[in-house]
Amino acid sequence: MSYGPPVISIDVEDWPQSTWDRSLPITERAAENTRRVLQLLRETEVRATMFVLGKFAERFPQVVKEIQADGHEVACHGHGHLEIGRQSPEEFLADVRRSKDLLEQILGTPITGYRAPDFSIVQDTLWALDVLAEAGFEYDSSIVPARLPRYGIAGWPVLPTRVRLNQGGSILEAPLATFQALGRNLPVGGGGYHRLLPGFASRYCARRIMTDAPFVFYCHPYEFDVYEFREIPVRVPLTVQFYQGAGRRWFEQRFRAFVRCFGGQPMYAMLSSQPWQEFQLCSLNH
Ligand SMILES: [Zn+2]
Repeated sequence: MSYGPPVISIDVEDWPQSTWDRSLPITERAAENTRRVLQLLRETEVRATMFVLGKFAERFPQVVKEIQADGHEVACHGHGHLEIGRQSPEEFLADVRRSKDLLEQILGTPITGYRAPDFSIVQDTLWALDVLAEAGFEYDSSIVPARLPRYGIAGWPVLPTRVRLNQGGSILEAPLATFQALGRNLPVGGGGYHRLLPGFASRYCARRIMTDAPFVFYCHPYEFDVYEFREIPVRVPLTVQFYQGAGRRWFEQRFRAFVRCFGGQPMYAMLSSQPWQEFQLCSLNH
């Protein structure tokens, strides 16, 4: 059974604010990078899901409208890009409500999907799923089904699942793509893996994954921005520049080859393609 085409998901944010210092303002560069990605999606005829940060939407509501006008799904990436573990449930609810309300005000349509900053729904923050259901989200795409140093939940189902919540209600979870190799699940769905793996290796993993599960790919507009670290006023150590910048030079080329090979679809299209199984939260044993 094939689960293609891949879900193309893009987290719309500004690298210095989202990764380096949460107190920095969103810069013009983030809008330019997002418009560059919109042009690329037009050229490759791919519809995607774009998880937009509230702070970005506040500064660039026109770009959010352009995303929708191009036929992409607009979803929510929270407001301030603060990891969930650093917030109380009340603070988290306020953060997601603020960004969801703002996006709905700009677009006039309901926002149903959410992705956490830095994939920060982990074992200790699973309460976030209850909060997201309370805020009115229908699906979440934040969990990496693997044990990793900074994120991920080992043993989480690799297929999308309707999670029955402990406090009643449910939410659909669409996990990020992982690839089984050497007895481990590797998060090959995007980011550094996609920038550093040779194109043929990424495509091999995607093809293998899609025989058993959907491939949820993710990236950020700044990953297409080759000269960012040379040009931004923020001073970033060379090691961080290397880790965050390596592979950007050929990222656009890789992306084009990837969607030329497989095409792509937005999250809602994949999630509505079949009735996914139910899953009770407490059935996950650790
Ligand atoms: Zn992010």
